Amino acid sequence: MSADATHVIVGGGQAGGRAAEAMRAAGFEGRIVCLASEPERPYERPPLSKGVLTGEAAESAVYLRTPAYYAENGIEVWTGAAAGHIDREARAVALTDGRRVPYDRLLLATGSRLKRLPVPGGDLRGVYYLRTLADSRDLRDALAPGARVVIVGGGYIGLEVAASAVKRGCAVTVLEGAATVMARQLAPELGSWFAEQHRARGVDVVTGAQVAGFEARPDAPERAGAVRCADGSVYPADAVVVGVGVAPATELAERAGLTCDDGVVVDEHGRTDDPAIFAAGDVTRHPNPVLGRRIRLESWQNAQYQAEAAGRSMADVPTEYRVVPWFWSDQFDQNLQMLGLPEGWDRLVWRGEPDPAAGFAVFYLRDGVVVGANAVNFGKAIAPARKLIETRARPDADALADPGTSLKTVLKAAG
Ligand SMILES: Cc1cc2nc3c(=O)[nH]c(=O)nc-3n(C[C@H](O)[C@H](O)[C@H](O)COP(=O)(O)OP(=O)(O)OC[C@H]3O[C@@H](n4cnc5c(N)ncnc54)[C@H](O)[C@@H]3O)c2cc1C
Repeated sequence: MSADATHVIVGGGQAGGRAAEAMRAAGFEGRIVCLASEPERPYERPPLSKGVLTGEAAESAVYLRTPAYYAENGIEVWTGAAAGHIDREARAVALTDGRRVPYDRLLLATGSRLKRLPVPGGDLRGVYYLRTLADSRDLRDALAPGARVVIVGGGYIGLEVAASAVKRGCAVTVLEGAATVMARQLAPELGSWFAEQHRARGVDVVTGAQVAGFEARPDAPERAGAVRCADGSVYPADAVVVGVGVAPATELAERAGLTCDDGVVVDEHGRTDDPAIFAAGDVTRHPNPVLGRRIRLESWQNAQYQAEAAGRSMADVPTEYRVVPWFWSDQFDQNLQMLGLPEGWDRLVWRGEPDPAAGFAVFYLRDGVVVGANAVNFGKAIAPARKLIETRARPDADALADPGTSLKTVLKAAG
């Protein structure tokens, strides 16, 4: 790509920001324009439900780079700038404010959008969602000591908010529709274990709860004052937090006629079916060579490394994105790490007693092959577990379960 070329990035989240850095670092000398619909330069979201929400972490720590970095590297970050239309024929992006930016190559890093809960009272004030820095600030203000906080959704976001709210002195209830928490991510046994950890710290975790609506406060009818469930139970609330998942923000890509399938479909370099258009981050459905199938991920790792691969590939340094999916969550003093996307597993192997002080791991096996792993306060299991998954190892299950046999030994024996 010549120095006269322009690369436009739609989306100023983690993926958009990291892709801009990567294409510059890979030697692209042309113009880089990053369109960020939020009023912020690129930042990471994980602290929004953790340190930023409790107030323990400085907001400034979330940003990928300083404004000086973007100026020095000639990366134009247009904040408050939303792309409304892609004109593929003219190779230009039309912004919703009427501006137009031509591109030689385009990256879609539009991320995810929140799923809303379509129930009566859903629009009342005092019902919070958490995706942006602004959302985190608003919610933090509502988490006053003594406030009754009802969280709808026992996924990892809901549980992180629960832990943060307890830290801020709130009385917390989590309403989860499934039989266990984090049901999408964890084996039910480990989900139940996490639910117990929350209960032990005072969180009222209710599973099998079907939220039917939010009730207005009698003294302030514009505000939510309670959550009502289908079985008639009512949970009074000073603040309601909804965490029921996200969907890929594919609208721009779909309107532009790019192939989408619950995500913008890209190849291992992040390229869509238009050779001038790439995509990275939460919004993509991409091939995972380790798992041997196409997946969509909502994770820091994916926003970081797929964006890096796509940014480099856009700079004519073709780079394959190849990882074992990895995700983490921090709840109270528990660090949970998840590796792989275990599907159809038939055996769960616990390595060590589930004691968070000592740390422990859980392995997911399918036909004897390791397809996933979770580690609780046990980060040192992650590197060998990754190798086990990458190599599709068939370890001896007894050795895997025995904390006295090192994972290195287990790995060697399986190889
Ligand atoms: C509260 C919270 C906690 C999390 N914690 C963890 C964690 O502990 N571990 C982990 O692995 N992952 C975590 N994640 C997930 C991780 O943060 C996301 O996977 C990651 O942010 C995805 O990055 P992205 O850049 O692809 O998308 P996003 O972060 O969604 O960014 C996309 C950006 O594009 C903008 N945009 C969209 N459309 C347009 C448009 N048309 N024009 C201009 N801009 C547009 C959006 O406004 C947004 O700013 C967390 C997420 C949240 C919300």
